Amino acid sequence: MSNDLNFYINGEWVKSESNETIDVINPANEEIIGQVTAGTKEDIDKAVSAALDAFSSFQQTTKAQRIELLKNVITEYEARYDDFVQTITKEMGSPIWLSEAAQAKTGIKNIHETLDALESYEFERPEGDYTLIKEPIGVIGMITPWNWPMNQITTKVSAALAAGCTMILKPSEISPYCAMLLAEVFDKAGVPNGVFNVVNGYGPTVGAALSEHPDVAMMSFTGSTRAGIAVAQASASSVKRVHQELGGKSSNIILDDVADLEKSVKGGAGHCFLNSGQSCNAPTKMLISSKNYDKAVEIAVATANKTTVGDPNGEFRLGPIANKVQYEKILKLIEIGIEEGATLVAGGVEKPDGCDKGYYVRPTVFANVTNDMTIAKEEIFGPVLVMIKYNSEEEAINIANDTEYGLAGYVQGDPDHAREVARKIRAGQVIINGGARGTGAPFGGYKASGNGREHGLHGLEECLETKAIIAP
Ligand code: NAD
Repeated sequence: MSNDLNFYINGEWVKSESNETIDVINPANEEIIGQVTAGTKEDIDKAVSAALDAFSSFQQTTKAQRIELLKNVITEYEARYDDFVQTITKEMGSPIWLSEAAQAKTGIKNIHETLDALESYEFERPEGDYTLIKEPIGVIGMITPWNWPMNQITTKVSAALAAGCTMILKPSEISPYCAMLLAEVFDKAGVPNGVFNVVNGYGPTVGAALSEHPDVAMMSFTGSTRAGIAVAQASASSVKRVHQELGGKSSNIILDDVADLEKSVKGGAGHCFLNSGQSCNAPTKMLISSKNYDKAVEIAVATANKTTVGDPNGEFRLGPIANKVQYEKILKLIEIGIEEGATLVAGGVEKPDGCDKGYYVRPTVFANVTNDMTIAKEEIFGPVLVMIKYNSEEEAINIANDTEYGLAGYVQGDPDHAREVARKIRAGQVIINGGARGTGAPFGGYKASGNGREHGLHGLEECLETKAIIAP
């Protein structure tokens, strides 16, 4: 990409104020694939000023104009689909099959969900003796992580566009190229100058400058709980809205009336390992009754041992971990699991066969885990499944809720029974019997997993202010 070192501001690729660069590493072979510029507060000032100028006219656009714009974005995104697939694989290591079937695809799915919500949305409606008006909140600052880059970016930007907001996106410095590709798509789709801006850089500098900026009306953040707190603190003095999608540690309760134990355990373990475990809503803690525990461990071990790991451009189920910091964190947590007395029954810290270079981790399973162990409490963000035995349904629900997080939950069992249990889980989304994330269903967390909801109608409303006009 010829504009690698530039930022997309006010519809143009412009040079940064900074000469500092960040190496972008291919996690499959540890080679440098390019560099981007580490932006500064001055770059953020420029981008916010462009977004603020653009807001005065973009907020006046009609719903029909914004529907048209989103449709154009989908067309241009589809035209660059293969570029997204290749870029995602190169910069964060997702295997090509997953980049193609899910990583890049979520981008289109998310924009469609927003479009559907926008088409039926009433921005103004009579309510009793007043008129309710929903207006765009203003300039939105967005900070995103590296694990499902297009999913996280498109859910935010499509909602902001639909609402009539303008925005500045700071993507992860570890996987910045997808966001830059999206800027090309937006440019081609005719998104007006200044509506969408991209500035690269580190969180504590560029991310903090965006969060502190008085002309930014809302911060929309996805990433770790630690950084989410920093964004909220930096945003506090200018009293802006802060949307946070943070970490998770989600339980998968296998009830005794599950129709097919083998299928459920296999599916749960496979879901935990998908994307090398780097999904905030991954079912990483499997809870099984003492009656089914030993059998379930056997099935999970067989699943782990059959899950292939290797070159993301090859025919493997899993690719590498996306970066060195995350790779080392996972290995450290596996070591802690062993030290604290959990039984390592599959995987471990050794590299998978044939993966000498690159950040590869074996699909790992721990048995005999108790809920007070570090590996049961901390988000590992790697292909590591912990299996906990329960003696009663009440105990299983308590274990699932005994966490600082509340992003997702999973229940396998008789559908009515599973629904009853799902109601007792303190999490933003509970999936029963291996179903997919619902279309346009709200996504977001309780407790330390965040504030607010994204996707479809819920994401659109996050970007709106509410006004009541009362006239006698
Ligand atoms: P991270 O928090 O380190 O980085 C995420 C983003 O925040 C990056 O763009 C980074 O530059 C920025 N950042 C870091 N420190 C900052 C600061 N002080 N101020 C402002 N911005 C800052 O997280 P990561 O390692 O990129 O991603 C993994 C984490 O993201 C996991 O904890 C995962 O659960 C979470 N996540 C949550 C969701 C969700 O929807 N709930 C989705 C994906 C990932």
